Amino acid sequence: MFERVQLKQINDHIWLMNDNDEATGYLVVGSQRALIIDTMNGYENVKEIAETLTRLPLTVVNTHGHPDHIYGNIYFEEAFLHPADQALAERFYQEPLFVEAIRQMQRKPAAFRPILAGDVIDLGEIQLEVYSVPGHTPGGICLLDRRDRILFTGDSIIEQTWMQLEESLPLEEFLQSLDALKEIRGDYDYLLTGHSRNLEDASLYEAHRNAVKEVCEGENERDVPYEWFGGISKAHPYGKEPRRIVYK
Ligand SMILES: [Zn+2]
Repeated sequence: MFERVQLKQINDHIWLMNDNDEATGYLVVGSQRALIIDTMNGYENVKEIAETLTRLPLTVVNTHGHPDHIYGNIYFEEAFLHPADQALAERFYQEPLFVEAIRQMQRKPAAFRPILAGDVIDLGEIQLEVYSVPGHTPGGICLLDRRDRILFTGDSIIEQTWMQLEESLPLEEFLQSLDALKEIRGDYDYLLTGHSRNLEDASLYEAHRNAVKEVCEGENERDVPYEWFGGISKAHPYGKEPRRIVYK
């Protein structure tokens, strides 16, 4: 029924949605509501995909304002996003290819509603706490599910972290954001990132944070050029492939 999006069950109430290995979203089902974390690229109807697994009312949250996390918002009326990413996300809503595609689909993207650090999304039996992690984008958030001991990180804590983008903050500020997350380090054992294919060990947090610190401190002997669609940046490898911090 759906060709691009492959479902993988993580436990009895969390599913990973892999959009053609290009983006990953999640469905978290509580007793009263279900939450979609990131709507992926939008080629397939993420609302219908979620409804094959739950009949509960759906809430949508975007971990940040990048297209591969928000374009599936076209299947919803509203989506929560940190206000610091709203202008960025609305710019992506205006991309001509996207505008033309959704005109043909006769859809329009969800309106954004603000979500802030300290907010709690209560699904009944499962609560997700919002932590602000400015860096990859100004309005990136992580969501902590204490019951399942999982931290949903979007692109903020991820093996291959893009910090070379125009909208990315200086690495020193990103390091501060990561260090602020230390207070919850004892509350999760796993990460689910914006591009995961399965649960990831929480030790990625330390490895990734230390790699960002190395770049800040100018440890660049092993760094290599990194080609991407916006040009050539630099990559700081850490641990096994594809772990790297990409920076300007
Ligand atoms: Zn991103």
